[in-house]
Amino acid sequence: MAELELSTSVPEAADDGVWLACIECGATYAPFEGVIYTCEDCDGLLEARYDSYPTFEAFEGRGVWRYAAALPFEEGVSLPEGDTPLHSVPRLEADVGVRTLRIKHEGMNPTGSFKDRGMTVGVRVAQELGVERLACASTGNTSAALAAYGARADLETLVLLPSGKVAAGKLAQAGLHGARILEVDGNFDDCLDIVQALAERGEVYLLNSLNPFRLEGQKTIFFELLEQFHADEGRYPDRVVLPAGNAGNTAALYKALRELVHAGALAPGDVPKITAVQAEGSAPLVEAVEEGNDDVERWSDVETRATAIRIGYPVNARKALPGIHATGGTAVAVSDEAITEAQRALAEEGVGVEPASAASVAGLRKLRESGVVNEGEDVVCLTTGHLLKDPDAAAAAGTAPESVPNDADAVLDHIEGRRRSGSGGLLGRVRRRLG
Ligand SMILES: *Cc1c(COP(=O)(O)O)cnc(C)c1O
Ligand SMILES: [Zn+2]
Repeated sequence: MAELELSTSVPEAADDGVWLACIECGATYAPFEGVIYTCEDCDGLLEARYDSYPTFEAFEGRGVWRYAAALPFEEGVSLPEGDTPLHSVPRLEADVGVRTLRIKHEGMNPTGSFKDRGMTVGVRVAQELGVERLACASTGNTSAALAAYGARADLETLVLLPSGKVAAGKLAQAGLHGARILEVDGNFDDCLDIVQALAERGEVYLLNSLNPFRLEGQKTIFFELLEQFHADEGRYPDRVVLPAGNAGNTAALYKALRELVHAGALAPGDVPKITAVQAEGSAPLVEAVEEGNDDVERWSDVETRATAIRIGYPVNARKALPGIHATGGTAVAVSDEAITEAQRALAEEGVGVEPASAASVAGLRKLRESGVVNEGEDVVCLTTGHLLKDPDAAAAAGTAPESVPNDADAVLDHIEGRRRSGSGGLLGRVRRRLG
């Protein structure tokens, strides 16, 4: 855990014990005096730093704001979010072949994805800065969350989406919560370029995961996950497996772990291995890990059924890759077929997730089969979004509806696979109608 050490000296820029630091050159900035997203000197990513980091004992209350001691504010614009279940999945656990498999289901947040945890903090910061118009580029879930939290805070909200590539549930949410939805003839990365340009001109406040405060909220997933796992098992997991798009969550996981180690709350030997999963058609982070690079090459053409991770240029790669390396983790790419299979396997345990979420389980299975993950491991897979986000994918993966006659006997015959003969029976009736 030597990389990206948390500095202990408080810079002049600190405001109430909080400041922003460039992860590349170490420059520090006042967090709430003006709007800043990246380093003014070198354009590097910024991250929030604090004058002290809490141990688990400092956490109290529920949801994201239970972790206020590790956040820049005591409370935020809340719906409320967090407190998501850590499911056991005994059949899947046995089938994958690990000692323990738990599913942290972030689809159980108010708008159905972990993005809510980032927005409760991000929109609170927007209020502190006094901005009027919020915006994001999105593959769908960020727009749904921003629309809801923006509405709650009574702020104008713009969302830029790749035309035709956003799952139906997410689009419906953004619209009903009253965001202006701008559909761009391009992919997510193009949308982000545009919204970043608008943010640079001061027209909008950017709430993509380039915004360091989004990741502060998302850190709480991992505080919560570690507390829950420890309460149940009396130890910490060996590995956390999560889908990666912009790799914001992967970066947030690493930040949560570094803060806990820094505070002495987590022994360095107890740090789980950060394991990121991407879809084969959209895997620049996996490529970087395989080639031993500490930055990604932009993929200009990306495609996958898991639209939430259909991203060719993960903006948080420079924060996420050191975490994968420092914890002994890895990154792996999975096929769309494997994602759908994992979505079904989770659903068979009663856990309904959208395709991108299932990538975590598909990735674990692949790493277990190749021997990277061993049978003695305790693993938590993160499922990031709810099944209803993408009803079309769910319908395509699940059983198809069967039409039956409006008659109890005929329905019974149908479910038992019996065929009736004669003109009064089902076949007779069907034949008559066809004839
Ligand atoms: C946003 C999102 C992801 C990707 O998260 P990153 O932090 O961008 O890597 C994965 N799954 C779902 C459902 C999402 O909404
Ligand atoms: Zn810098």
